[in-house]
Amino acid sequence: MKKLILILGDQLDVDSVALRGINPKTDEVLMVESVNEAKHVWSHKARIALFLSAMRHFAEYLKSQGFSLTYIERSPFTIVEELRSKIISGKFAHLVCVEPGEWRLKQSIEALALELNITLEVLQDQHFYCNHEEFKGWVANKKELRLEYFYRLMRKTHGILVDQDGNPEGGQWNFDRDNRKPFPKKGPGLIPPPELFEPDLLTKAVLAEVQEHYSDHPGSLEHFQWPVTRQQALLALEGFIEYRLATFGIYEDAMWTDTPFGWHSLLSSSLNLKLLNPREVIDAVLVAWKKHDLELATVEGFIRQILGWREFVRGMYYLDMPQMALDNFYDHQNALPAWYWTGETKMKCMQEAIGQTLQYGYAHHIQRLMVTGNFALLAEVLPKEVCDWYLAIYVDAIEWVELPNTAGMALFASGGRFTSKPYIASGAYIKRMSNYCGSCQYKPDIRFGEGACPMTTLYWNFLIKHRTQFEASPRTRLMTANLSRISEADQQAIQTHAKGLLGDLNSL
Ligand code: FAD
Ligand code: SF4
Repeated sequence: MKKLILILGDQLDVDSVALRGINPKTDEVLMVESVNEAKHVWSHKARIALFLSAMRHFAEYLKSQGFSLTYIERSPFTIVEELRSKIISGKFAHLVCVEPGEWRLKQSIEALALELNITLEVLQDQHFYCNHEEFKGWVANKKELRLEYFYRLMRKTHGILVDQDGNPEGGQWNFDRDNRKPFPKKGPGLIPPPELFEPDLLTKAVLAEVQEHYSDHPGSLEHFQWPVTRQQALLALEGFIEYRLATFGIYEDAMWTDTPFGWHSLLSSSLNLKLLNPREVIDAVLVAWKKHDLELATVEGFIRQILGWREFVRGMYYLDMPQMALDNFYDHQNALPAWYWTGETKMKCMQEAIGQTLQYGYAHHIQRLMVTGNFALLAEVLPKEVCDWYLAIYVDAIEWVELPNTAGMALFASGGRFTSKPYIASGAYIKRMSNYCGSCQYKPDIRFGEGACPMTTLYWNFLIKHRTQFEASPRTRLMTANLSRISEADQQAIQTHAKGLLGDLNSL
């Protein structure tokens, strides 16, 4: 029976399980660029360009390997509509694909197979350590779903940073205390740049096309130098391991003006497009650890992101969809301030985080969680609007990883389902972890009145509003203890000031 193999835009794996055992005489591969996909969220130009360029490079690779490929460029239809036409016109009775990352797309493909009465083979994605069954098995009987315990299980199961008895290397599971420092007062100093890739002819054509067809979309293409092929992704990995990994951990949470990448890896887009496998990333880190005698803290800090967070959020996404997309624990309803799309705000921290996002389609984790995410939570913005923004604006954004991070982690929209507390902070945290406040017209220490920092005002307002919730948990009780040191009159003034801010977020 001849097979149709569907390869999605984030499944650019040269070693794809879907391509194994294919019969080149009868079987066909289908790839679809859907304009719909780029437009259903108002995607950053660089995000669109990255997908298109990586897909077209992958298509060239498939052709060079002799696969019979139908590649549909710039289709006005959805992927599923194109798939339906292809199955019908080609009289296919057998469809094969690797499990789509996006929950809804998986549902649609399954529904299509039923409707057309064809055999559907959905293969497990090899780019994760933990499959859905294993994750469900871990979840069963757990009172609380917390990254830390899942991560320890992953370490033991895969023998990563554990001794023969399953004890953690260095005697502890977590080195956060040694990591996460701010940059020195005089600045980050010279950071070796990440590997960046000059666009080749194919990418240049894509950039021109995106500029022409998506000119009203946010973001710039000026700095587009992302890896678009497996070879480039491997070079990016090599460069990170060689020059940046050693200092990753200590400054993983630090922020500084005009320092968009810090010591981070910039590997997320390559991992998410499946140009890289997380196993080869972790293996390379472990080899470098021994070879260059790296600090265990930085190695553990980095591995935790991939073996811990990346696997954990993916497990949660598939477990909790479609509910996760609807969650709104605090019933927040404010609109996202328009300046999230332009960076034109007076708040220096937001200017920096959004500004570099518009330039590169990139911000690191703490900028996403504790700057733009923190503000959206404190400003009581409707989770759907915030999630749409994150899905649109980062080159690595794909729903399975974006949604749990945004709704679950940054906005606490799923309540305490898989995070122990809301990640909120005042201007004092941003002042400690960056130099942003020094050149801001607001003052991080002023809670209300002239010059008050909006992060600070809204932080205290949030605590006052949700005092009972924060007092109930040992993880957050200390935060409300600080609140009791603020006089009743000042608390009133904070609330009045906050009300004004919340009613006019666009003017900040
Ligand atoms: P590094 O800091 O170098 O980390 C190494 C790798 O670990 C990353 O490449 C990534 O694959 C993985 N990783 C790190 N943190 C996380 C995490 N919290 N969840 C999953 N994987 C993680 N990541 C995405 O890949 N796509 C998204 O759409 C996305 N949206 C996010 C939205 C919010 C609100 C927040 C708080 C985080 C989001 N993240 C997302 C996670 C994280 O911010 C990015 O993975 C990271 O900033 C990418 O940069 P990097 O490759 O330099 O990462
Ligand atoms: Fe951000 Fe407040 Fe600092 Fe300004 S003062 S940069 S608004 S935290």
